[in-house]
Amino acid sequence: MSSLRFKAVEDAFKKKAVAVSAPAQLTSEYYGRDVFNKEQMIKYLAKETLEALTAVVEKGVTLDRDLANHVAAGMKMWALERGATHYTHWFQPLTGGTAEKHDSFIEYTGAPGSPIIEEFSGKLLAQQEPDASSFPSGGIRNTFEARGYTAWDPSSPAFIVDDTLCIPTVFISYTGEALDYKTPLLKSLNAVDKAATEVCHYFDPSVKKVFSYLGWEQEYFLVDDGLYATRPDLVMTGRTLIGHESAKNQQLEDHYFGSIPTRVQAYMKDLEFEGYKYGIPLKTRHNEVAPNQFELAPIFGETNLSVDQNLLIMAIMKKIARRHGFRLLLHEKPFAGINGSGKHNNWSLGTDTGVGLLTPGKTPEENLQFITFVVNILLAVYKNNALLKASIMTAQNAHRLGANEAPPAIISVFLGSQITAVLDKLEKSSSEEAIQMDAKQRMKLGIAKIPEVLLDNTDRNRTSPFAFTGNRFEFRAVGSSANCASGMIVLNSIVADQLALFKKTVDAKIASGISKEKAIFDVLKEYIKASKPICFDGNGYSEEWKVEAAKRGLDCETSVPLIIDAYTKAESVRLFENINVFSERELHARNEVQWETYTKKIQIEARVLGDLVMNHVIPLATKYQSSLLDNVYKIYQVYDKEKASKLSAHDTGIIEEISERISIIKSNLETLVEARKVANKIEGEKEKAIAYHDKVLSYFDVIRYNVDKLELVINDELWTLPKYRELLFIR
Ligand code: ADP
Ligand code: MG
Repeated sequence: MSSLRFKAVEDAFKKKAVAVSAPAQLTSEYYGRDVFNKEQMIKYLAKETLEALTAVVEKGVTLDRDLANHVAAGMKMWALERGATHYTHWFQPLTGGTAEKHDSFIEYTGAPGSPIIEEFSGKLLAQQEPDASSFPSGGIRNTFEARGYTAWDPSSPAFIVDDTLCIPTVFISYTGEALDYKTPLLKSLNAVDKAATEVCHYFDPSVKKVFSYLGWEQEYFLVDDGLYATRPDLVMTGRTLIGHESAKNQQLEDHYFGSIPTRVQAYMKDLEFEGYKYGIPLKTRHNEVAPNQFELAPIFGETNLSVDQNLLIMAIMKKIARRHGFRLLLHEKPFAGINGSGKHNNWSLGTDTGVGLLTPGKTPEENLQFITFVVNILLAVYKNNALLKASIMTAQNAHRLGANEAPPAIISVFLGSQITAVLDKLEKSSSEEAIQMDAKQRMKLGIAKIPEVLLDNTDRNRTSPFAFTGNRFEFRAVGSSANCASGMIVLNSIVADQLALFKKTVDAKIASGISKEKAIFDVLKEYIKASKPICFDGNGYSEEWKVEAAKRGLDCETSVPLIIDAYTKAESVRLFENINVFSERELHARNEVQWETYTKKIQIEARVLGDLVMNHVIPLATKYQSSLLDNVYKIYQVYDKEKASKLSAHDTGIIEEISERISIIKSNLETLVEARKVANKIEGEKEKAIAYHDKVLSYFDVIRYNVDKLELVINDELWTLPKYRELLFIR
């Protein structure tokens, strides 16, 4: 078996970069080629159809059957001309990732057996009923009708992958509950648009719409596919469950922004060509901090579209990696001891008039608007810090948070010194000092001027989970394999709720005769005081911060099953129901899914760990031990007892260490298996997940520790599993 490892290493070393030929055209010429975007719509849809469809997307007008028929006809023509033979409703179930079931365009013209044609009606475009009974629903579909529906999301354009027209859709139950991420995301975007637009009217009555923007930074690892194939843990769980750190890893900091290895460079090029065809504006690519870790990021865009593009690129990344002899690891912590992978979500709000609401302005009015949004976001994050954490928490991400440059599992906000100074000054000044009217009755801000380009927006405090970076907030706690929608739903919802409250409070003050500016200042001052506990610019790893954060009342829970609970706390239910994003029933159902997923992930890992120990580690440790015993025996045959004892000391030391470690590993594994059996019998999903966290996962570390120590003493020739140095440095 170890020969397989050496063969894989040898093969990997010989691999050359796959030749990637650049498209003959400029990027701008083929960009969006496989997307049914505005440009294509102009060509394939009648003018009235396009206008009606635009109204549906921009004004939320209901889509009627006639319009759907017209769009479907144009879309079909476009797709057939590009060689598509199938279509699918592309949706985002709670399993993570995306789901699709392909149907061919063919249809009989009459009775079965009659000639066939390519058919695609408005009905097929608008709604489908996939046989979806095996997607997680948290019980929603078991108690009601078992049916689930997908419905077209006209705000995200259709695209063609290979031979299939993919139509982005929401996925809901027969009774209308969301079974996906897109449905609540669209609702949260509506909610934040409505609330933010109303607040904007204090400053500019001409604003009609506020957009939520997202720019994700996707981190990932690439591992040679031959080496990957010989690691059952990577294949089955996406992470290494055992493996000693290699002597060199990221301590020299020589990988970050270093020159990109040639095989990887070819991969990235290939990936970008594909991405551009789908209209994904990929902008940056570079090595990340850990060996064999990389990142790509597009130019930010409207959140719904950006989420879809991220899901699509993750699927493409996987596919293209295979073409280059790599396997893509999107797991949040594939390797212990080095950086894990995140997906920083750069988020901001902007108006239809082109103003970035998180960009410091040029005029006092704009700056007051900027501060209003920043302060409301601060308070929203403070009040809902547990919920925001729940939105990004999974079994995988739990391994990443709190170690190797990832933010800790406590949500705080980094503002930087300039914004902090402005808020301090505002808090301490009287409203009269803060706003002065000049001769022409123009407002003047007495508070510190906010420079347009902030000096400290080059924040490299990577331990902050939620950092202000000049014109946006960067939500860094998001995991690399996650659907960005999960965090974006919560963020947009809590901000929507907070802005609505702000508006209500300010309006009440205005109604009582206070000027608008003073009312806004008074409320902001209160908010700044109230949200102080969430602001933290220091080291998120320090023990002092954990103590301090707890003192400040921030959520410090680290157990995933308990963190998830934040969704169904009374305050969260009120919030989501108020702004019509989730019903209480949906929240409970989704938590059930999360607990079940958590349990299954740990269950699979526990089994794989058991297999690795029993089928790889212990047999080869025993084999090595036996060869040492042989040697000792022979020494005693040749030399007298005293000399033999001296000469065999090294061997006997290792023989004993192997026995001791095997015995620790085995006894812990047995306890783990017992604990798993007990946990499996527990009825409630939450209780089961808690048992898996407290009673099963807790044995992983001690088993791993002893296995990794064995790796250090056992003859390398016998070791069957590729080591960290091979997985991380061969490319
Ligand atoms: P970093 O310095 O954090 O590595 P990058 O330039 O790699 O930054 O990525 C930052 C991401 O943030 C990009 O996707 C970029 O388009 C996005 N971004 C920039 N400005 C905004 C904004 N106002 N709102 C949302 N995202 C933004
Ligand atoms: Mg960043």
